[in-house]
Amino acid sequence: MGALESYLEGRWQAGQGPGTALVDPSTEEGLGSASAAGLDRGAALRYAREVGGKALRALSFERRGAALKALASAIHARREALIELSIAHAGTTRGDAKFDVDGATGTLAAYAAWAAEMPATPFLTDGPALQLGRSPRFVGQHLLVPRRGVAVHINAFNFPAWGQCEKLACAILAGLPVLEKPGTPTAAVAAAVARAIVDSGALPAGAYSILCGEAGDLLEHVGPQDVVAFTGSSATARTLRAHRAFVEHGARLNVEADSLNAAVLGADVQPGSEAFDLFLRDVQKEMTQKSGQKCTATRRVLVPQASVGAVVEALAEGLAGVKVGDPRDDSNRMGPVTSAGQLADVQGGIRRLASAGRLATGGPDRLGSRGFFVRPTLVVAADAHAPVFHAEEVFGPVASVLPWSGDAAEAAALVAAGGGSLVTAVYSDDRRMPAELALELAPWSGRVYLGGARMAEHGTGPGLALPSLVHGGPGRAGGGEELGGLRGLSLYMQRSAVQGFSALIEGAFGGATGVAAARP
Ligand code: NAP
Repeated sequence: MGALESYLEGRWQAGQGPGTALVDPSTEEGLGSASAAGLDRGAALRYAREVGGKALRALSFERRGAALKALASAIHARREALIELSIAHAGTTRGDAKFDVDGATGTLAAYAAWAAEMPATPFLTDGPALQLGRSPRFVGQHLLVPRRGVAVHINAFNFPAWGQCEKLACAILAGLPVLEKPGTPTAAVAAAVARAIVDSGALPAGAYSILCGEAGDLLEHVGPQDVVAFTGSSATARTLRAHRAFVEHGARLNVEADSLNAAVLGADVQPGSEAFDLFLRDVQKEMTQKSGQKCTATRRVLVPQASVGAVVEALAEGLAGVKVGDPRDDSNRMGPVTSAGQLADVQGGIRRLASAGRLATGGPDRLGSRGFFVRPTLVVAADAHAPVFHAEEVFGPVASVLPWSGDAAEAAALVAAGGGSLVTAVYSDDRRMPAELALELAPWSGRVYLGGARMAEHGTGPGLALPSLVHGGPGRAGGGEELGGLRGLSLYMQRSAVQGFSALIEGAFGGATGVAAARP
């Protein structure tokens, strides 16, 4: 494969120096390198702003939507190649690779469809015109207009296709050019998606760029109209938040970070029931899909004391039966974690969790002599309130069982102890408890997923971020918000209240469909 190139200022460019080695996580064979050293990030952002932004704003929402549809088709046309790359570079099983690639095209297609219903205006209205004094002649109207900057998308390694395209869909539809900075370990997959985007010719010049390799001084060139949407660890988020691009220049920053997502088993759910089986299926899937390297994966499993034995026995048996190995072998159900660094982090995390409880299955040992393999690991907490279970995000196939009393107030307190999550799932067939608990969990959770016998056959599972629902969570999860249908566009748009003579305001802005009306 050689060295990955970046696409900046409308051309593919190679970075200097050896860069970072890209490694097959199943075999540890070298696959190439990524370097962005010496690339002019300032010029790339200027080009995107001046050439790409202008061209995109000249297109209607509908035309931008048509471009998203063309991107979905272009990426889908390379689906097989992308799946193969993902297996080699990310160590994903075929199913997990499809999850990433199809998530990307599905999200682009969803936004393309919504765009077709949007107004022909270059702005959106937010609510009706408001009379501001005694006279109806003086009114105010909230508008949403595209910011005049670049959408800088700094993504984590775990979803090189989906993570890139879900952010891109909202930014492009809002009218902002995109500069993608993928996580380096899987940048080859992101770069292949980029090739499909560029080769499609669907976007105007300057509307799309990708920087493969280190961020370097990228943020130094971020200005007040730019938007940085970051997905990654809390540690990196802390560094970003303190950067003068945000502190001094007021650029907009959206953070999607760590999350200790919980699955709560209701006290009413009996072992052997449909809701119990659904809960077990979902927990096992959320722990092992993408080798647990999913921001929405379940990390904390809250089980009423009376059911701990049955849950631990069933989960331990199920997880021990997951065949781990090179995903090129179709009989393997879980691949490695993505890098040597990830493996070391996961092993350290398992040790820290296990020191406050007992291992029910799995453990910190590396599996085999080559590749970054660990077994699915379940820890049973000695004390559900021990801080380590609410502080340590082990980004791998690892979860902790936290025994709780069965009192909903305790479940809410345990979930809140995680400091903010992307998603919290509750499994119960009780007619009132789940909805009551949802109101307690919602302030701490970007999504609340209510599982039970009556929806068992229809649910998507808590880990699936859907384009129509918001993705993001409060506090520790970063405090950001993406997707949620057309809500996802507001990150890239400026809300401005225009005040003046009613006929002028209503004549110019009154006929447009508001974002609320256009919401899917
Ligand atoms: P990471 O190490 O924080 O890196 C994330 C991104 O930030 C990468 O592109 C990285 O580039 C870049 N980066 C690192 N330092 C930077 C700096 N000083 N300035 C600008 N960019 C910088 O996270 P990761 O290991 O890729 O991903 C795992 C983490 O992501 C987990 O904690 C997981 O929970 C979180 N995650 C959250 C979500 C969500 O939606 N909430 C989704 C997926 C993952 P390099 O790769 O080149 O270092």
